[in-house]
Amino acid sequence: MINLREDLLEITNRLLRAGLNHGATGNCSCRDRDGFLITPTGVDSSNLTADMMVRMNFLDSTSQSESKFQPSSEWQFHQAILEKYPEMNAVVHTHSVFASTLSVLGQDIPAFHYMIAIAGGDSIRCAPYAMFGTKELSINILQAIHNRKACLLSNHGLVTMGRDLNEAYNIAEEVEHLARLFVEAKKIGKPKLLSKKEMDEVLSRFNSYGRQLKD
Ligand SMILES: [Zn+2]
Repeated sequence: MINLREDLLEITNRLLRAGLNHGATGNCSCRDRDGFLITPTGVDSSNLTADMMVRMNFLDSTSQSESKFQPSSEWQFHQAILEKYPEMNAVVHTHSVFASTLSVLGQDIPAFHYMIAIAGGDSIRCAPYAMFGTKELSINILQAIHNRKACLLSNHGLVTMGRDLNEAYNIAEEVEHLARLFVEAKKIGKPKLLSKKEMDEVLSRFNSYGRQLKD
């Protein structure tokens, strides 16, 4: 049987090793039947163990009573995403440097590179600022991630979702890379954007590629 706690720990460690998260920042979750598992609050990622992952129930938003740890302070938006998108099973949140840098501008990332399509559309939206851990932030994220698999959080960081933890991780890694390219390009000029037609072609290719993988 797949051990979801171990999977969640592995993704947390990969985020740390890749430099996408540092210290106790960022958090991840994955669906677990009628609830989800999420990383605990205030624990340095390098000290995490599988048994520290906190199980939450969708029904009453409570954590498992036997857990010694409190869920990440961001559990609300993890729950909101997993409840709204039943086909999605994992959420990754980072404070990675370049995605966070762009989030400070409060602007969407436009189609300056075809790989923007990895997030599911011709832009990566930036959710308006709301304080961490609030319902308002969850609402802003649900709007910004609509028809996408990633969004920036204004003055904060990045959120991605996927059918599994690997997909959510891969999108986070790619969006961070794209954010870096965008920051670098803006230093030396005005990035040329792809047209809607060009992005539609990429998106349809990505969609058929996804179908082939599934077949
Ligand atoms: Zn955060």
